[in-house]
Amino acid sequence: MLDELYQQVILDHYRQPRGRGHLQEPKITHEGFNPLCGDEVILDFRVEDDMLTDIKFSGRGCSISQASASMMVESLKGKSLTEVFEAIRQVYALLKGEIEPDLETMGEISALSGVRKFPVRVKCATLAWHTLEEALKGLK
Ligand code: ZN
Repeated sequence: MLDELYQQVILDHYRQPRGRGHLQEPKITHEGFNPLCGDEVILDFRVEDDMLTDIKFSGRGCSISQASASMMVESLKGKSLTEVFEAIRQVYALLKGEIEPDLETMGEISALSGVRKFPVRVKCATLAWHTLEEALKGLK
């Protein structure tokens, strides 16, 4: 039942992505690519006063990569960088099976745990998060 729910969440984000598009300048653009699957995620974002004040994504690829980017953009927009790094760490832990999904605390992000059964797809699910992490680390 939970698997079905998770699958629906992913399909919903894939079909109706949140925050898809581009930002106007000034912005930071960073691109990520997952050669295993051919997924591409391009992030446009702005950081002001250690806050991720705006973020949008574009690109193309499998449903998991694009749904994950949509979830990320929706959940992290307006968050402090500390919260952003914590959320990224949580997604990695979730996908490695180090923590269990919890709809109450993680919200729709929990749905990404469904990918754990398919190790080859884990890189699809983490692509957007890796891309953002890399871009933010590059700012320092
Ligand atoms: Zn993929």
